[in-house]
Amino acid sequence: MVVVNTCGFIDAAKEESIAAILEAVDFAHERGARIAAVGCLVERYREELAAELPEVDLWCGLDTAPLLAALRESGGEGEGAKGHGAALPVPRRPRPVTGYVKISDGCDRRCAYCAIPLIKGDYETVVATEVLRSARAALAAGAKELVLVGQDTSRWAQPGWGGLERLLAELKALEPAPIWLRLLYLQPDGIDEALLEALSRHAVPYVDVPLQHASGAVLERMGRRGDGSRHLDLLARVRAALPDVAVRSTFVAGFPGETDEEFDELLAFVREAGLAAAGVFPFDAQAGTPAATLPGQVPTALVFERAAQLGEAIDGVAVRFWQALAGRPLEVLIERGAARPEGVAVGRCALQAPDIDGRTFVRGVKVRRGQVVHAVASGSVGYDVEAEAGRREP
Ligand code: SF4
Repeated sequence: MVVVNTCGFIDAAKEESIAAILEAVDFAHERGARIAAVGCLVERYREELAAELPEVDLWCGLDTAPLLAALRESGGEGEGAKGHGAALPVPRRPRPVTGYVKISDGCDRRCAYCAIPLIKGDYETVVATEVLRSARAALAAGAKELVLVGQDTSRWAQPGWGGLERLLAELKALEPAPIWLRLLYLQPDGIDEALLEALSRHAVPYVDVPLQHASGAVLERMGRRGDGSRHLDLLARVRAALPDVAVRSTFVAGFPGETDEEFDELLAFVREAGLAAAGVFPFDAQAGTPAATLPGQVPTALVFERAAQLGEAIDGVAVRFWQALAGRPLEVLIERGAARPEGVAVGRCALQAPDIDGRTFVRGVKVRRGQVVHAVASGSVGYDVEAEAGRREP
């Protein structure tokens, strides 16, 4: 059975998911295998998809029980399982150096543009025992870094057990211990002094905070809080608690009703905020969300023009953050080793999250994937860092 996991967050993700299903249909049917499509897109559009794509054998949303039952019927769930067709080639993957651990799911915030609450439902905490179990499994599989994810991670707490401070402390004390803990998607109003203290004690100096805009009026229309000056106050508090922190954010360009002046406020904010990186989303109206029917929809060409302008402004500022690292000592978690010291190993320093940020290129050391090298930054190219190796840990 070929399983395609889908995303239904924005139109680009929906199109990519459908293209992946179509590709998998050909691949599976050439080999006599069945095909299952699972995940968020299916959760939201199951009936429409089933009518359009009858070649797919199983549609399964967020409840994976039907998929697991079908896999058991097929004869197993793992590599080497015998389906009712020929065994498919399973690509060999290197051991992971990062483990993603989900600590919550869903969201109660209902931002006007966002389809996630329609797909995932209200916020739910993943209980501590389950978080610790997933973390142990990731570490046992070779992960050196744990990345804690959810739509609203700063809110994590389990009544009678404790909050993020205890969770991070227990994760740090696991055996084998993770070298880094990283928390993604901290909502701005969830970043208080207690959270900053917990991050400074247990996590890497990295804050991923979706600010989305800097105009108070646009944020209000989005159903969010704050404005540029409150964002700057927040960033000052973050930097006071976590010196040398890398701050990543996301912004939406061309939200309905966004005027030239409001967009200029956003540009002025990103030029002042000293961010290390930020993602830019051109506004993309999602059916069923309040923003899709708001008056003042910005013409698509202008949405993309503003998104490009915002992306350039962010790039222009963020490169300074990375250039300023020159001369600083860094720990680098190696993702692609070097067989000889004359080679170049590739990894990430603590200021770079996997999959979304730049890389660190280390010269002068023979090193394997999963090892940690102590290096000194020598320069940067865009969002990537160059470094010279020093000591290496096992
Ligand atoms: S906080 Fe994030 S996940 Fe929740 S509704 Fe807003 S954008 Fe969507």
